[in-house]
Amino acid sequence: MFDTLSDRLTAALQTLTRKGKLSDADIDATAREIRIALLEADVALGVVKTFIARIKERAKGAEVSQALNPAQQVIKIVNEELVGILGGETRRLNLAKTPPTVIMLAGLQGAGKTTLAGKLALWLKKQGHAPMLVACDLQRPNAVTQLQVVGERAGVVTFAPEPGNGVGDPVDVARRAIAEAKHAQHDVVVVDTAGRLGVDEELMKQAADIRDAVEPDEVLFVVDAMIGQDAVTTAEAFRDGVGFSGVVLTKLDGDARGGAALSVREVTGQPILFASNGEKLEDFDTFHPDRMASRILGMGDVLTLIEQAEQAFDQQQAEKAAEKLSSGQLTLEDFLEQMLAVRKMGPIGNLLGMLPGAGQMKDQLAQVDDKHLDKLQAIIRGMTPAEREDPKMINGSRRLRIANGSGVTVREVNDLVNRFFEARKMMAQMAGRFGF
Ligand code: GDP
Repeated sequence: MFDTLSDRLTAALQTLTRKGKLSDADIDATAREIRIALLEADVALGVVKTFIARIKERAKGAEVSQALNPAQQVIKIVNEELVGILGGETRRLNLAKTPPTVIMLAGLQGAGKTTLAGKLALWLKKQGHAPMLVACDLQRPNAVTQLQVVGERAGVVTFAPEPGNGVGDPVDVARRAIAEAKHAQHDVVVVDTAGRLGVDEELMKQAADIRDAVEPDEVLFVVDAMIGQDAVTTAEAFRDGVGFSGVVLTKLDGDARGGAALSVREVTGQPILFASNGEKLEDFDTFHPDRMASRILGMGDVLTLIEQAEQAFDQQQAEKAAEKLSSGQLTLEDFLEQMLAVRKMGPIGNLLGMLPGAGQMKDQLAQVDDKHLDKLQAIIRGMTPAEREDPKMINGSRRLRIANGSGVTVREVNDLVNRFFEARKMMAQMAGRFGF
């Protein structure tokens, strides 16, 4: 669903990774790209404005991390703000202290409420609950049968008015259903309600009456992510007409732009609890703002790398090394320290796999596996502090001693010493490129 948005955001941020230092003009240009990407994806204007203002403020502000280069910092900020508009923390379903927990579904016709009732029932059942579905959509022809069918597929009981009694009273059905749930010891009740093609007062009144009759623990507003900007106006209408405690996004598998769905949380102030992404009952899960944000940014791996870099970072050590790097005075001791710092972040193969667009470099560095690094570490540890400080003093007899002491061949020691200067150069390049 968010493919185009994802591509555009990635492109906007990728231009930054080629820059060593970001000017305010760079940040403004990137912010402009992000703004266009969000608007084209249908994210509500007000949400885009707030989002962009915060990104600019934070990117230009004092929030400077020594562990990350400027591009990584901006990516981190965009990610955090995206998680923020999606709701921050994952919001779990509120379960009543004394069962049954009553969950009422509300939304327009076709939003996916009935399907969701089945999905929710199956999901609850898998978590060890004994849910019951309640058919309060007595308007749409076949809505009751449809609910019974999804209920059967999920393997749960559906409470419905007897057929043939004409149009029943949904409020009465809801009331009787709760009594039945208590009697039959169902601990969660999911109430499906009628929707209309558009928002109207009668619909809101009926939903509000059902709400008052069943006193739900959760009212979930179900919204089709494919309906564009209407999602926002519909959400506002339901917020004012019925009120809801959470949102469920449906049809996230569609290829529409979906940005409106991203605005619902920010506009209504209510969290997104679940996301539906297909017609099958299994196509459904808890909504995690952080996972959705990194999916939209298409940079899951880079974000992990950024996190790890921050954790493994030792500011003093890095400053010292950076100084030496720039003056060309890096010693084997520093080399060892740097290697250990990088290795704290995990197996080297994983790290290399996470580097964005480092194609050529990746091939070269792929040969540097962990065993090889172990050996380099052992050789350097076999040297005296003076040798580490000034590798030029390592003559033939010293090489033999180091080789014997660290269990390697003289050739391997030669290799290390000879390639040390090369490595120093490469590390200087990497430091510039990825901020290690
Ligand atoms: P209701 O009127 O709100 O009860 O909506 P329905 O549950 O009847 O759903 C309307 C249509 O959307 C049906 O054809 C469903 O199969 C379909 N639908 C529901 N959820 C999803 C979803 O997450 N993805 C897709 N692709 N289709 C869905």
